[in-house]
Order: sequence, then structure tokens, then C-alpha cells
Amino acid sequence: MKFHYGLHAKFVAAIALSLLAMLVVVVLMLQRQRTMQSEVVSLSRDSMHALVFDRLRERGMAGVAQVADALVNPMYYFDLDAIGVVARNVLGEPDVAYVIVYDEGGNILHDGSGDIPTYGQAMGDPLAYEVVASRGTHVQSTDAVLDVSTPIRVGDQRLGGVRIGYSLASVTADETRAIAAMSARLNQIGTRQTIWIYLLLAALVVLGVVISLVLQRALVRPIRQLAEAASEIESGNFGTEVPDSARNDEVGDLIRAFGRMGDSIVRHDRDIRRMAYTDALTGLSNRLAFRETLDHRLMQLRGAGRQLALLFADIDDFKRVNDTLGHDAGDEVLVQFATRIREAVERFGGDSALLARFGGDEFVILVQGDQLQTSSEHNGDIRAAASRLADTLVSELSRPILVQDRQVFLGTSIGITLFPEDASGATMLMKNGDIAMYQAKVAGKNCYRFYSRAMDQAVERRVRMEQDLRGAWERGELSLAYQPVYRVSDSKLMGAEALLRWQHPEHGPIAPSVFIDVAEQSGLIETIGPAVLRAACVDAVRWKQDFPASDPLFMSVNVSPRQLRSGELPAQVASALEDTGLPAHQLHIELTETAVIGDEMHASSLLARLRESGVKVWLDDFGTGFSGLSHLRRVPVDGVKIDRSFVADIMRDPDDLALTTAIIAMAHSLGITVVAEGVEKEGQFNILRERGCDLAQGYWLGYPMNAHDFAGLLV
Ligand code: C2E
Ligand code: MG
Ligand code: MG
Repeated sequence: MKFHYGLHAKFVAAIALSLLAMLVVVVLMLQRQRTMQSEVVSLSRDSMHALVFDRLRERGMAGVAQVADALVNPMYYFDLDAIGVVARNVLGEPDVAYVIVYDEGGNILHDGSGDIPTYGQAMGDPLAYEVVASRGTHVQSTDAVLDVSTPIRVGDQRLGGVRIGYSLASVTADETRAIAAMSARLNQIGTRQTIWIYLLLAALVVLGVVISLVLQRALVRPIRQLAEAASEIESGNFGTEVPDSARNDEVGDLIRAFGRMGDSIVRHDRDIRRMAYTDALTGLSNRLAFRETLDHRLMQLRGAGRQLALLFADIDDFKRVNDTLGHDAGDEVLVQFATRIREAVERFGGDSALLARFGGDEFVILVQGDQLQTSSEHNGDIRAAASRLADTLVSELSRPILVQDRQVFLGTSIGITLFPEDASGATMLMKNGDIAMYQAKVAGKNCYRFYSRAMDQAVERRVRMEQDLRGAWERGELSLAYQPVYRVSDSKLMGAEALLRWQHPEHGPIAPSVFIDVAEQSGLIETIGPAVLRAACVDAVRWKQDFPASDPLFMSVNVSPRQLRSGELPAQVASALEDTGLPAHQLHIELTETAVIGDEMHASSLLARLRESGVKVWLDDFGTGFSGLSHLRRVPVDGVKIDRSFVADIMRDPDDLALTTAIIAMAHSLGITVVAEGVEKEGQFNILRERGCDLAQGYWLGYPMNAHDFAGLLV
């Protein structure tokens, strides 16, 4: 980690650098001290030398003057002995190296010795010239001696002179000694200073190390820990232990703030996860969460010889609840269903079961095999477990549900797919589950189906059917059958219901309940529907032309919800009537309840427009939806067709009889015609007549037949 070195290394480098700088300064200082020391020594020597020399010179001058005075008389009288006494006295004085008394010509008269070996000789030493030449006291020096001379006079007459040489040896020795002492002293001071400096330097190094350690402990380590925690958090590991501190400083504040920040990130993450992975309405997992868990589980299970089952549950006809009772009721139903499903899953699903709502009315349950068992045994096990759960769900969810003080009967269709038997990937499993669920719907709803390969074929068949249906009308494969509709009171033929037939070139006749659904879902109904309308009008007009003597019959045409929703129905009806010349009052439009009540406002205005033109509107399959009779007040219709499921049981089931009777009475009170469908027995017809039903159709009265056969009824 680069941070690892960074901060601490920088601190250490800074400290080392400043120590180095200090060391350089110390070295320079030491050097400077040494030169200063030698300068001091040489300066001291010079000044000491000057001092000693001056003193000696004064002494010499004073001494020479005294000696010169003493020598005036002996010189004047040329008393060599007296001169000798004086000279010898001088020579006896300390530090006097020599004494020379010389005559006017510079020749030596006496040198203080007994026999004066140099007597009469001229002074030949280098200093002699200046001595002879000078008119007064004269001082000269060499390294070894200080030469002081003065002339000796009587009045203006110069008799000669005297020279005294003072030895510098002892002076120099004193000087050297003093300098040595001073040097020693200075050295001593210097050494002490150096030791102090070294001590200081050592202290600084120790201080630097201590500072670096303190920084490392107090700053670098906590920061590094924070950085590590931050990068852990960054990589999504929110459970990371965030360092804590009781320190009462900025770093402590930082660590605590970081801790709080970590906590709030964890909280936020949890909230976001909850929002992103939860279905807001039911509180169950949503599609996203389910998909993630499924992928995860599949990864764990793959190769482990373990299996799981996916159950896709879809509420039957849930859309009707929404359409008829409103979305609030729909939501309530979903919540209650979710609760029932959850309870069932808790009881039968095992610990690792997962329940999710996939949006809309679709719930998905994942059930996992508990132990690792032999494949076949286990397979049976998971299949049995899934069946048990599905059974429970089907029976639980078909119990009536109380919504807005109304009992609502719903059911559920469940598709089950097994891993790894059916598929090994999540996407394929979900697709299979969907297919199986769809097959459960096709099989009559309120049941469950295990996925099988054959189902793929069923789906394929459906896709192929859609392709085949395209252009079927143009190819003449689609035709209309007409079922006669009679007046109940006197069994008079009043009209016909047009029913679509498809003769498939390969598969023969296909049931309308199958292909109309396909046409509806694919949108093909939007082209087929208007064609049916037109063809039915054409036939109705032809019957009228062919049999002008008989009373005109009405033509009842089924219209799909999708046709109504497009909003073009009034225009299509108007143009069909205009083009064929069928009077508007002879055309009846049959709509299912769901189509009408899904969007009451929209439907009401469309129906009102249709009815204004004279066309009659009938509500088909009445009684199977939720609209109830109260809706009839709000939706303008001319008639209701009681669903054949009521008529079928009218003789056995008193409830159905009561309901049928109520529908008839209620409709009549609103001035609405009542048509009974599916009359298959004479008994049914008689009961309907007793109860005052207006019109009836059914196999007992007449099967749907082609236009030509129908014309036979008119003769
Ligand atoms: P529907 O409008 O309720 O039509 C009545 C259905 O009941 C017809 O089935 C008819 O053959 C059948 N039926 C008549 N009498 C009896 C009886 O005594 N017993 C029994 N069990 N059934 C009887 P079909 O022809 O199979 O049509 C089924 C549904 O397909 C129709 O129900 C209608 O909703 C729809 N459909 C048929 N033709 C068209 C069409 O041209 N356009 C649209 N949009 N839907 C159509
Ligand atoms: Mg119908
Ligand atoms: Mg019907």
C-alpha cells in the first residue's frame, strides 16, 4: 500500500533532513571555532609580543641613557678602567646579551670583557651602521636581540656611544609559555563546547526519533487504519470494523466522525437495499432480489447434486378486481394474498424457501431440497414438496377474500419448474415456470402444473397459431356461424348471434375460445373484428332482401374489449351500417362486462354514441364479472345476456335460480332486455319463461349454423 510509506516516510525524511542541516551547521561552527581559536592565539601572541617588546625597549632606553650618563666622564678622560667597570656592571644585569662602548668613529672601546679582544675594531655587525649613523637614541632588533644605542656627548662634542643588546630569549620563552597556556585553555574550552554540541546533536537525534515515533503512533497509524477501513468500505465490505478512539484531539474527532460516517453508510446501504429489493406493497422481496438470490443459490447448488423448485403463482382474473372494484381493492387483495402465500410457504416451504412478488399479480416461490440425497430419491422429494406447497396454495387462495366488505372469489394458477431437471440457468427456469403457469391457466385455472418439454410445444403452437391466423380472413379460412335467438314468450325467431369460425387448413376447425384469445392478445382482432361486423351486416341485409315477407331479424355481433378500447368502434359501426344499408336498430353489439367496466367513463361515452345512432348494446356473459347490478345504472346498455353457466344449473342450484330471477327482475325495472344463453334443455327454457326472461338461445333452440342453413329458418 503506497500510503503505508508515504506519510511516515515523509516525516522521517523531514526530520533526517533537519538533523543533517543541523549537523552541517555544527561542523561549520566547529571549523569556525578552530580558526577563531588560532586567530585568537596569533592575535594574542602579536599583542603580547608588542607589549613585552615595548617594555623592554623603554627599559633599554632608560638603561642606555643611564649608562651613557655614567660614561660621559670616563669617556672624556678616556679612563678605560672606569668604562670597563660601567660596562661590566651593565653586562651583569639580567637579559643583557652584550654591551659595546664605541668611540666617535664607531670603533669598539670596550665590551665589558676583561681583555677586550675586539678593542679598536670597527663594529662589523649588521646593526652597526645605523648605530653609528644615528644622532640620538636608536633602537633596533633582530630575532634574538634588542639593540639600544645612544651617543655620549659633552656639550656639542660627540665622544662616542654605547650599545646594549638585550637578549629576547627569555622574553620569547615567556611569550611561548603564555601562548601555550592560552592555547591549552582555549582548546579546553573548545573541547567542552564540542562535547556540548555533540550532546545537543545526540539529543536532537533522539528528539527526532521520538517525534517520528509519536507521529507514527498519533497520526500515521490512525490515518492508515482509517484509510484501510475506507478502502474496505469502498469495496462494498460495509461490515468492516471501523477504528474507534477515546482521544480528545482532532484525530480523535476524525476517527469518531469516520465511525459515524461508516455507520450511516451502513444504514443507508441497508435502506437502499431494502428499497431496491423489497416490494413496497407487500413487503416481500421483489424481482431483483429474487433474481439475485436465485443466481446465488444456483451457483451454490450446481455440482452439489442438490435441487430446487420454482413455483410461479398468478392470480386468476385479477385484472377483473382492478377493473371492477378499483385499484385500492386490487392492492388489498394482493396484500391479503401475499399474507396467505407467506403463511403457506412458512409451513411447507422449508427454512431456505424464498418468496417474492414479481409485480402485478405474480408471486414466485423458491423451494430448496434440504439434504444431500441420492438423485432420484431427492428428485421425488422436491417434487413432492413442491406439489404439497402448490396444493396448499391453490386451496388457500381459492378461499373467498373480504375486500371493502365484499366477498371476492379468486383463484390462482401455479407453474412449477425443477432445477436441474428442467433447466440449469435462472433465465430458462423462469421462462419454464411462466410456461407451466400459463398451461395451468389454459387447463382451466385454479390449479398447478409441472413444467414439461411438451409445454414448450404448446407455446410454440400458440406462436404458430398467431402466424397462421394472420391473413386467415383474406384467405377465406374464417367464416361466420349464426345461432338463432328466440323470444321466450312465444318462441318466435327474433335474431341471430354471429359467431366466428376458423377452419385451419391443416388442423381443421379451431375453437373460438382458443383462437379469439390469440387474436386478442396479438392485436389481430383489430382487423378481424371490423371484417366480422361488416360480413354479419351483409348477411343480415341479404336475408331481408331474400325473405321480404318475414319480420326483419336483428344481428348480434361480438366485439372484443380491445376493439372497444381503441375508441374506433362507433366509426366502424357507422361505416358498416352505411356501406351495407342495415338499419341501425337491427344491429346489436355484444360486449363482455370487463370490456365495459374497465374504464367506465370512456366506455359509457362510446356506448352512448353507439346507442344514439340506434344500435343496441348488450352485455355478454353477465354474472361472471364483479360489476353487479348496480353498475347497470351507470353504464348505458339495452340488454344483458345471462351467462350460460347460470342457465346450466338453473334447474339444480337454487342459488343460480335466485340470481337469474334477480337479474331478470332488476333488468326489467331498469327497462333492460334479458337474454339467456346456453339453453340446452326444455326445462331450462320453461323456467326462464316462468321468470319472464325476454330472449333465449342455445343448442335446444338451435345450433350455430352457416348463413345458408340459417336462411332455411326464414322460409
Ligand atoms: P359468446 O358470445 O358467449 O357466445 C356464445 C357461445 O356459446 C358460443 O360459443 C356458442 O356456440 C355457445 N353456445 C350456444 N348455445 C350453447 C349451448 O346451448 N350450450 C353450450 N355449451 N354452448 C352454447 P363459441 O362460438 O365457441 O364462441 C365462444 C366465444 O367466442 C363467444 O362467447 C364470444 O365471446 C367469442 N366470439 C365468438 N365469435 C366472436 C367474434 O366474432 N368476435 C369476438 N370478439 N368474439 C367472438
Ligand atoms: Mg356473445
Ligand atoms: Mg356469452
